[in-house]
Amino acid sequence: MLTPCYVVEEEKLIKNLEILKRVIDRTGCHILLAQKCFSMFSVYPLIGHYLNGTTASGLYEARLAHEYMDGENHIYAAAYREEEMDEIVTICDHIVFNSFSQWTKYKKLAQEHKIECGIRINPQCSTQEGHAIYDPCAPFSRMGVTKENFRKDLLEGISGLHFHTLCEQDSIDLVTTLQAVEEQFGHLLPQMKWLNLGGGHHITKEGYDIEKLITNINRMQNKYDLEIYLEPGEAVALNAGYLLTEVLDIIENGMSIAIVDTSAACHMPDVLEMPYRPSIEGAFYANEKKYTYRLGGPTCLAGDIIGDYSFEDALKVGSRLKLCDMAIYSMVKNNTFNGMKLPSIVLKKGDMMETIKVFGYEDFKMRLS
Ligand SMILES: *Cc1c(COP(=O)(O)O)cnc(C)c1O
Repeated sequence: MLTPCYVVEEEKLIKNLEILKRVIDRTGCHILLAQKCFSMFSVYPLIGHYLNGTTASGLYEARLAHEYMDGENHIYAAAYREEEMDEIVTICDHIVFNSFSQWTKYKKLAQEHKIECGIRINPQCSTQEGHAIYDPCAPFSRMGVTKENFRKDLLEGISGLHFHTLCEQDSIDLVTTLQAVEEQFGHLLPQMKWLNLGGGHHITKEGYDIEKLITNINRMQNKYDLEIYLEPGEAVALNAGYLLTEVLDIIENGMSIAIVDTSAACHMPDVLEMPYRPSIEGAFYANEKKYTYRLGGPTCLAGDIIGDYSFEDALKVGSRLKLCDMAIYSMVKNNTFNGMKLPSIVLKKGDMMETIKVFGYEDFKMRLS
C-alpha cells in the first residue's frame, strides 16, 4: 500500500449507516449526507441504500450527488451566483436560502421548477464553547435570518425552515436549540411542510443519546405536523477511516522528531484549524511510554505538527502509523500546498484493500497556471 493514503473501512461506514437508518425507521424523518464533510462518491451508492439523499454547499457538490446518488438533492449556500442557478434548479429538489433577498431574487425561477424552498433561520442559541469558527450563532453571524430580521410578509411559497447550529454535539443540545427555535419561530411552524435540523448531531458517537433524538423528532413532527430532516456529515463517516503514513526521517532538537509523509496543513487541516489531536493506533500521550516523538509533516510550514505521541517501541524510518478518524473533513479539505502529493483513496472491504484513486503531479499542476 502506497502511503500516504486514506483508508475508508466499508464495514465501519455500514455500521454508522445502520444506526442512522434506525433513526429513519423509528421516526419517519429524512436523513441526508452533508457532502461537505465526506464526498467519497465511490461509496455514494452504498450510502444511498440507507439514507434519503444528500445536501450540498453549492453547485458542484449538488452535481456530484446528482451523478452518483439517487434520492433527494438539497442545497444550501450563504448566497447563490446567478449563473449557477439555472443548473441548480434542474438538479436540486430543495433549495434553502440564507436571506429573504436571495429568496426574492430566485423565487420565480425556483417556482417554475417546482423546487421546495426553505429559509435558514438563526435561533441565536449557542450551545458550544471553544469552537467559535464553527458556531453559526456567534455574534454577527452571516448564517441564517434572525427573528429581528425575519420577513413574515415574504413567506408565501416557502415550505420549510432550516437551522444548523450544532457541531459534534449530543441530543441534549438539540433540545436546547429546539426550545429557542420554538420560542422564536414556533408560530410559523404550523404553516411549514418541513423543518431541517441541520448537522452537527454526533449520532454515531459512542454515548450519544439516540432515544432523546428520536423522542424530539417525533414530538416536533406530531406537534406541528412537519417532516423532519437531519443532515449530518460527521455522523455518517465518523471513525470509518484512517490515514496511513510512513516515517521518512527522525531528527533531534531537544526531543525526538519524526517526519512523516503526510502533512497536517495539507491532509488534515482541521488538526490545525479546529484544533485537535488525532488519535494514532498504538500511540499514547507524550511520555506515557518509553519513546516520545513530535510528529510533523514534510512541508516548510514550521507549524505543520500533528502532535506529540509516545510509543512502546522506538519508531524507525519506514515505520507506519494509522491516524484515526480521518475519513471526515479530510479528503474534502486537502490541498497541495508545497506541492505535496495528495493521499491516495483506498476502500477496505473485509480483508480486501481496493485502491480507488492515486494522485500525482498533474493534480498539483491542474489548479495552477
Ligand atoms: C456543516 C454542515 C452540516 C454537517 O455538519 P456535521 O457537523 O458534519 O454533521 C450540515 N448542514 C449544514 C448547513 C452545514 O453547514
